[in-house]
Parts: sequence; C-alpha cells; structure tokens
Amino acid sequence: MKNSEIMEIDLKYNWHPCTQMKDHEYLPIIPIKKAKGIWLEDFEGKKYIDAISSWWVNLFGHSNKYINNNIKKQLEILEHVIFAGFTHKGAIKLSERLCKLTGFDKVFYADNGSSAVEIALKMSFHYWKNKGKIKPLFFSLQNSYHGETIGALSVGDVGLYKDTYKEILIKNITIPIPENKSEEETQKALIKAREIFEKYHKDVSSLIIEPLVQCAGYMKMHSTEFIKGLKKLCNEFGIHFIADEIAVGFGRTGSMFACEQADVKPDFMLLSKGLTGGYLPLSVVLTTDEIYSAFYCDYTELKAFLHSHSYTANPLGIAAANATLDIFENGKWKEENGEWKLRVEEKEGLSVLEFNKKTSKYIWENIQKFKDLKNVKEIRQTGMISAIEMIDYPWQKRMGLKVYEYGLKNGVLLRPLGNIIYFMPPYIIQQEEIDKMINVAYEGIKALND
Ligand SMILES: *Cc1c(COP(=O)(O)O)cnc(C)c1O
Repeated sequence: MKNSEIMEIDLKYNWHPCTQMKDHEYLPIIPIKKAKGIWLEDFEGKKYIDAISSWWVNLFGHSNKYINNNIKKQLEILEHVIFAGFTHKGAIKLSERLCKLTGFDKVFYADNGSSAVEIALKMSFHYWKNKGKIKPLFFSLQNSYHGETIGALSVGDVGLYKDTYKEILIKNITIPIPENKSEEETQKALIKAREIFEKYHKDVSSLIIEPLVQCAGYMKMHSTEFIKGLKKLCNEFGIHFIADEIAVGFGRTGSMFACEQADVKPDFMLLSKGLTGGYLPLSVVLTTDEIYSAFYCDYTELKAFLHSHSYTANPLGIAAANATLDIFENGKWKEENGEWKLRVEEKEGLSVLEFNKKTSKYIWENIQKFKDLKNVKEIRQTGMISAIEMIDYPWQKRMGLKVYEYGLKNGVLLRPLGNIIYFMPPYIIQQEEIDKMINVAYEGIKALND
C-alpha cells in the first residue's frame, strides 16, 4: 500500500492531536510501518530520523530489544489487574527503585502526564484541607506547560493551547520568569516572585514548575538559581513545591532529574514520557511521608485520597519502566570497531549519562554554525535538549512548519514550536546521524532566506 492511500483512509476516520486537520489538504500524514533505533520507516520504505523522540518520550530507541523482551515476558504473566486492594510485583519493584533513586517515600500511579499534574494539584489542595486550611489557588510560571486537561491547562501559560478555554479554567496565579539565565535577570524575577508570594500565599496550595527547561514553552531555559530561589520562597511561605519533570526527567537535562542540579527536594515530583522509555502510557506522582500522613487516618474521618484511573499501575507499562531503569543502572556504552554499542550486561564503559554528556557536547559544537544564519537569533542547550531560535517571524507565516516540511522531505522528523527548531533525539543517536539531523535543519532554516 502507498503512503497516500493509507493517509486517505486515516483522514476519513482519525482526528489527530494538536492539529488543524485542514492542513492535511496539502500536508501529508506519514504512515509509519515500523521503527528501529532512531529511525522511523514509512510504507514506501522511506526513513526518517526521529529527532524529537516521538514527542519527547523515547530514550533508547524504537523497538529496543531489551525493553521489548521485558514487555513480552510480562505479557505472558499478567497484563493488567485492578490496583485498588490488589498489587503486583512490577509495581512494588518500580516504586522501590523510584523512591531510592529520588529520595521520595511514596508513589501514586496514573497513565499520562496531565493526569499526574491533576493528581499533584488535588493532593496538595487536599493536604491543606485535611490540615484545616482552604487554599484554592496555585502558583505557576509564565510560559509554562503542564498538559491539556482542564486543571493542567489552568496552570499552564501557553496561549495557543489555553486562551480558547479561559472561561472554563480554574484560577491560578502566574509568576513571571527571568528573561534569560543571567544572575541579574534571575534575581529580578525572584524579587517579583517574592511580592506575589507575599500577596497571595495564604490562599495558595502549591507552586508547580518545569525545572530548567520549559519544553512546550518554546524551549526556554532557566538557571538552577531560579529554581533554588523559588524553593526557598515555598519553604518560607509554607507552599508545596511541585516539580513537573515529565519532559525533563530521566537524563534529558544532563542529570537523572533536573532538580538534582539545583539541589532542591520538592514535595511532589511528576514523571511520565521517558518513564517507560517511550513505550507505553504511564506516569507517577512521587511524594513524601509528610504529605502521605495527612491522609492516613480512620476511614470515617473522610480524609482519604479517593482519586483513581482504570489503568492505574498497568503491569505492561511498569515492565517497560523497570526495563528502562535497568538500562540506566546497568547499561554501558562501549566502542567496538569504531561503533558505539549500548549493552545492559556490560561491566565496563560509559554510563548512559556519561555518554549523553559526550553526545550533547558534540551536538553543541555542531550547532554553532547556526549563528551564521541571518534568520537565527539564538542557540541554546541544556543537556540533551538543543534549540535554535529563529527571528520573530509573524506566526501567520508559519516558518517553523516550512522547516518541518523540509525536514520530512530530507528524512528528518523535526517538529518546530513556532519559530523554534529543536533537537531532542533518543539517547542512542550516533555522530553520523547527528550530522544528518543538524545539516537538514540547517539547510531547512537557510532555505527560508531564499
Ligand atoms: C507532555 C507534558 C505534560 C503532559 O503529559 P501528557 O502525557 O501529554 O498528558 C505535562 N508536563 C510537561 C512538562 C510535559 O512536557
């Protein structure tokens, strides 16, 4: 079957996410037949580098043998079971590992990032209520993104997704972010934040932030000092600190979790996306015994957290997550005949995070040339996230979309955010492939000048 035939049937039935469907009158939908490593392959045999890790979820490549095998093994034993009143081995193992890794005490499961955000907001509000305080507001950051469900959208600040629904959102207070990573801008933003904390803190349950990188917010990057400063304010004013590490967790920013770099310990940490290596929908809310204990009492006190999702702690998703953690814990990169290989049962070599450091350094060196393009304003990088900011083209011109089309024609899946072209590839990408990814983006941006 040809791509175009499949697209025709697709468009008859499917309504795609984050898409003006009319665009597909001229923009092709790419049906993917199979994928291996960083490569996607369509029905006509054309291959694309997945430079955005299929919306930031994939870490160790598509059809990863190790993760595949672990999911298959789990499938033969237990596909799913209710998680209220019942439990299973995978969930116990994963929770113990996550707690050891992060220093948290308790794990609450859900099945996508937005749900994890909703859970943390509800838990925080509910905690204060159980303590006899009604604190109905939340602090969140300017330019933030926390998902698309009503509560998550409410604490977000990307107008493109949010503005349409403003009449039905819950109330929150937005804290301005620094213009850039500089000490001066960071301090200015923290002074402003303090004023807002002073004014509203009595009515606010928690502050939710995306530490270090606001990914959907056009890859804006912040200093560790900004995070530290916000955490201090939360401590001083008695407000929970929620770290939404759904996009930045699991090595994306250089450390296993972004908060480690700022040396802060949140009250809640949210993980999804890379949690399963990009395989299956799963998310967790990590929290402390302090929070947990505010809900722990006789049933008749009616303080329990009665939130639930049908697929809570799905064993297949959890098998993928445990396999992903295995790779982080035991995986080693080794060079053999000029080729780098990642193996789980290897004793010597570079760890995943060490190899990422090497990869991001290589990407950084190779994106310097974008500065020579007259339509590029800035380049920036945090760990395995690199962004090229083009000049402020009017949004109606959709210049990013033109780079997207150029990328597809030339075998690279880029998915610009407005005027930002970014690279967020699976960690297994090799230098030759990085060269291709960067060169195609470079030529695509350069072509806009012609
Ligand atoms: C993707 C994302 C979410 C939402 O996760 P979904 O699984 O898409 O609902 C929330 N917060 C951040 C920072 C994200 O990048």
